[in-house]
Amino acid sequence: MSPADIDVRALFRASFDREPDGVFSAPGRVNLIGEHTDYSGGLVLPFAIDARAVIAAAGTDDGLVSMVSAQRPGAVVTVPLAGLAPGAVDGWAAYVAGSVWAAREAGVAVSGLALALDSTVPSGAGLSSSAALECAVVLAVAGLAGQSLEPLEVARIAQRAENAFVGVPCGPMDQTASAASEAGSVLLFDTRAGTIDHIPFDPGAAGLSVLVVDTRVSHSLADGEYGRRRASCERAVDILGVEQLRDLRLDDLAGTLAALPDDELRRRVRHVVTENARVVQVVELLRASRIDEIGDLLTASHVSLRDDYDVSCAELDVAVEVALAAGALGARMTGGGFGGSIIALVPTASAAGVGDAVIAAFAERGWTAPVVRPVSPAAGARRD
Ligand code: ADP
Ligand code: MG
Repeated sequence: MSPADIDVRALFRASFDREPDGVFSAPGRVNLIGEHTDYSGGLVLPFAIDARAVIAAAGTDDGLVSMVSAQRPGAVVTVPLAGLAPGAVDGWAAYVAGSVWAAREAGVAVSGLALALDSTVPSGAGLSSSAALECAVVLAVAGLAGQSLEPLEVARIAQRAENAFVGVPCGPMDQTASAASEAGSVLLFDTRAGTIDHIPFDPGAAGLSVLVVDTRVSHSLADGEYGRRRASCERAVDILGVEQLRDLRLDDLAGTLAALPDDELRRRVRHVVTENARVVQVVELLRASRIDEIGDLLTASHVSLRDDYDVSCAELDVAVEVALAAGALGARMTGGGFGGSIIALVPTASAAGVGDAVIAAFAERGWTAPVVRPVSPAAGARRD
């Protein structure tokens, strides 16, 4: 049992005066590459990280969802199962209640549920604490009902909770990464085909580390920018007469861009098309055990997100630039942008120096100190 496991059992006992029936967990994620492509049928390449949402849960027959979080000290929050509907619950309880609602909608029997949550995934850092929480709840609800769900089904239910119940219009990447990742690999997820593939990813064996630098600038996907990017993609699809931006080919890019009416739309489309191509190139290099050659593609992804897709911010840009200057092979913002985290692929020998350089650069500018963490590809959601 991990320490989080023991703590969450203790929290459950203290809150509900009984033993849990089971413990379930799901990880946060970083995206190696393939950003802002999961809502236009594109390719993404995330991996689960060794930070998890852990849930101790028990079935009840009181018709209630009762929940407590170690990260929200205070009273147990209780919502009636009968009234569960989009809009009925807000705050953090919506992520839990929404996951229970979506699982029921998918046919999982629930007569009541008590759960205690403890998560080591930092919230709002772009590491998908929300997907970790949702996937852990879906797994718990199904597990307590004696039902086993395929990882992709867990992901679909969890995404529905976030889209329809919480009201965040995210694509399918985060929940799929949390539900379906495997230790030691990145997850190639073709969002158009709905298929996944596990590609071995072992930076340590190549003398490399992946650092995540949390800029501490809180992003909010619920704000308008994310929706505007999605709307731009839909507009481009209409104008170009294709089904999804994924249908566009890199070797026709010049002609495609010429058919678009304005510079902004051309830049948005150029990002999506070139980003899908970069994912393919990274996968080819990883399959050929050439991990030390993916750095330039990661950095090119950042430049595209910054200049073409306009979703970066000063803190993300400085973190990337300083990491590269301090010896990173490649670096890019990861997640939706406007804050959150970057990832940097660094020689392990210079990892400490890269982290220190970014911390110093933030201090020089009077910015909140960033948090630097090494991450390695961890297992997806599971019953513990
Ligand atoms: P991200 O997924 O990038 O961390 P989001 O804004 O999508 O950021 O999700 C963060 C939200 O998820 C929090 O505001 C909170 O409502 C919920 N959440 C995540 N982890 C926890 C937790 N341990 N306890 C309570 N709520 C949590
Ligand atoms: Mg989230």
